[in-house]
Amino acid sequence: MKIICIGRNYHAHIKELGNAVPAEPVFFFKPDTALLTRNRPFYYPEFSSDIHYEIELVLKICKVGKNIQTRFAHTYYDKIGVGIDFTARDIQDRAKKAGLPWFTAKGFDQSAPMSNFVPKSDFPDPKDINFSLRLNGESVQQGNTSLMIYPFDEIIAHASRFVTLRTGDMIFTGTPAGVGPVRIGDVLEGYIEGEKMLNCAVK
Ligand code: MG
Repeated sequence: MKIICIGRNYHAHIKELGNAVPAEPVFFFKPDTALLTRNRPFYYPEFSSDIHYEIELVLKICKVGKNIQTRFAHTYYDKIGVGIDFTARDIQDRAKKAGLPWFTAKGFDQSAPMSNFVPKSDFPDPKDINFSLRLNGESVQQGNTSLMIYPFDEIIAHASRFVTLRTGDMIFTGTPAGVGPVRIGDVLEGYIEGEKMLNCAVK
């Protein structure tokens, strides 16, 4: 199983980090050891002092595919969940300045708290799904898939040009504006369409 993530997929988030709008989707990986399931706590790692939350909708791939055409891409995922793309922003900023890869900033253990998945048939329109994140009970991020630069089907089509997608793979589809730091003692809650899907305590 692999976790593919897209960066810079919402204009307002690109702006808040001072990045440029990409000419094509920007991808990176997290290893399977990044997964944090069943609402287990996240333990703040010693190598960073600026871990940020990024709430994202996540697709679950349901069949093998390579060079998938955009018009068929919707048949390659059958479930949707919500996850957090924890990012060591201090490490990422150093890597960006040096022109180096993001791996340690994004791929560390527990950097992908993940909810249970629900069938995509629960959502009448994949281009109009609301999701949000609360930090200690306060709403800090709200997203809607209509605001994505690259919608689900284009993400799948583009990623599959480079890597074969397999059953069970997950795709993090990008974060809306409002990212920020977490501290020990914080509680994060992820929602889809107002329904609580994910709880993550920072310890
Ligand atoms: Mg992200």
